[in-house]
Amino acid sequence: MYDYIIVGAGSAGCVIANKLTENPDVSVCLIESGPENRSKLISTPLGIGGLMWHPKLNWRFFTLPEPHLNNRRLYCPQGRVLGGSSSINAMVYMRGQPNDFDLWASLGNKGWSYEELKPYFDAQEWWTDEERTAPKDSRVRISKPRYINRLTKVFLESSKDVGLPVYEQLLNQECFGSGVYALSQVEGRRCSSADAFLTPVAQRSNLRIITGATVCKILLSGDRAVGVRYRKGNNLLEVRCHEELILSAGAIGSPYLLLLSGIGPEDELLAKSIEVNHSLPGVGKNLQDHLDVTVTHKCNTQDTFGLSWPFLLKFMGEIKKYHQSKTGMLCSNVAEAGAFTYSSPSSPFPDLQFHFTPAFLRKHGFSLDALGHHYSLRVCLLYPKSRGEITLNTENVYRGPDIRFNYLAEEEDLTKLLSGLKQAREILNSAAFSKFRVDEVYPGVDIQSESAMKEFIRRNAETIYHPVGTCKMGKDPMAVVDPKLRLHGMSNVRVADASVMPTIIGGNTNATAMVIGAKAADLILENSLS
Ligand SMILES: Cc1cc2nc3c(=O)[nH]c(=O)nc-3n(C[C@H](O)[C@H](O)[C@H](O)COP(=O)(O)OP(=O)(O)OC[C@H]3O[C@@H](n4cnc5c(N)ncnc54)[C@H](O)[C@@H]3O)c2cc1C
Repeated sequence: MYDYIIVGAGSAGCVIANKLTENPDVSVCLIESGPENRSKLISTPLGIGGLMWHPKLNWRFFTLPEPHLNNRRLYCPQGRVLGGSSSINAMVYMRGQPNDFDLWASLGNKGWSYEELKPYFDAQEWWTDEERTAPKDSRVRISKPRYINRLTKVFLESSKDVGLPVYEQLLNQECFGSGVYALSQVEGRRCSSADAFLTPVAQRSNLRIITGATVCKILLSGDRAVGVRYRKGNNLLEVRCHEELILSAGAIGSPYLLLLSGIGPEDELLAKSIEVNHSLPGVGKNLQDHLDVTVTHKCNTQDTFGLSWPFLLKFMGEIKKYHQSKTGMLCSNVAEAGAFTYSSPSSPFPDLQFHFTPAFLRKHGFSLDALGHHYSLRVCLLYPKSRGEITLNTENVYRGPDIRFNYLAEEEDLTKLLSGLKQAREILNSAAFSKFRVDEVYPGVDIQSESAMKEFIRRNAETIYHPVGTCKMGKDPMAVVDPKLRLHGMSNVRVADASVMPTIIGGNTNATAMVIGAKAADLILENSLS
């Protein structure tokens, strides 16, 4: 019997486990479906290429056919390992824009404005280039990139060509412009939420970490959770708690577990023959993500990450270099630089984000037409209006969730992404790239009319991996948790991960997921004191 059970050791879950176990009198059981985070693919930044489709460290979800993307089923990677998605992500560290959080507060979520969250961001960050002395508490280490590809520097030059201000580091999209990204890395290695918050406290006697254990049901007694049932290998096991159950299984995992436990929209549960334990219509709804489209050019030098004999030879040397000094190409997070711009002059704040990659990146790095050398500029829409949902699988509820993002259901989203595609083309066609440019491979020179570009988007757009919103925080009938992250209608269940964001933030989501974890821990401790 534990005081608290946390389901999911991802970006948020690791922070919560750390903070709750600071008090030796509090016992916590942290349950993670994936294994420990020991793989070199995780610690080596460029290992992200091998993590994208990893059979053990990644859930490798696919969506249902997306009706507005020509019924394509989109690949949706999510981390399944200690550290969760922060162990497989691209390590871009970004707070999000103050307006994003002020919007949450204005929706009735007291305590979630930027001013109120800023202390949490400040407290979780260790900017290793500026503060040499280690802080006493656990923090995520953030560094300037150790490696910047030659073509990434050209991208920064090209930004000037098109009138974008260039910053030394691109931290928040509040600064319209471009720059290299700050990275959650330390001395050339990834710093995941597990590295920052779990590893340093893993030996605490009041913390039990169970890996390889997939929770399949919340055990209830009236309006209280008393424990969870989980599968480990061929065994079905149970663990109990007497204070609180905290779901940190991510924007796909948390609503899925609630639905499996009979907590969700009544009609949907009944249709799948699941006993309704608690009717909560918003569970799994309000799914939001950043949809991304890529412009790719062939490069006439061998500087970018590519498939050629000279590059492979060079790469062998780079492996040695990395092992000796943790420098060089293997420190690259691939998405080395980016930019924020407006989709139209009437946009109140930047609503497009760019990621420049000195590589060919179709199909999440799994494309066989990548022979040779390329560079790509990806652009995503930051504030989509379209909403999707997580539901139970029609044939077998235990086969995993049904995911439908419903991308581009709103025509306005397509119009804005089209503006992004045009801007991405303009940047890659600017003078700075003239020495390197061969052909535009995607969309391709034939695709010039607006209707052809829209069709290109429908055929090719992909996720840039930021699902949120499926257990949204708020007070309206579709809210799943209240501003203290307590599940509406239950007395001791909280959700704390990316799923509680009522609206998606305008930037990469990992830093905010960790802040949600830190704030959740405070709310839980505040409750235990009272
Ligand atoms: C490929 C990729 C690249 C990304 N790049 C960036 C980036 O560069 N910068 C950035 O800021 N953000 C990035 N993100 C997004 C960011 O990493 C996520 O938003 C963030 O990690 C979400 O945190 P979370 O705590 O909500 O969920 P997660 O970190 O995904 O954690 C959920 C955990 O719960 C576990 N779990 C789920 N279900 C169960 C169950 N039933 N039983 C037990 N355990 C369970 C999972 O295995 C996982 O470990 C990226 C994401 C991906 C997938």
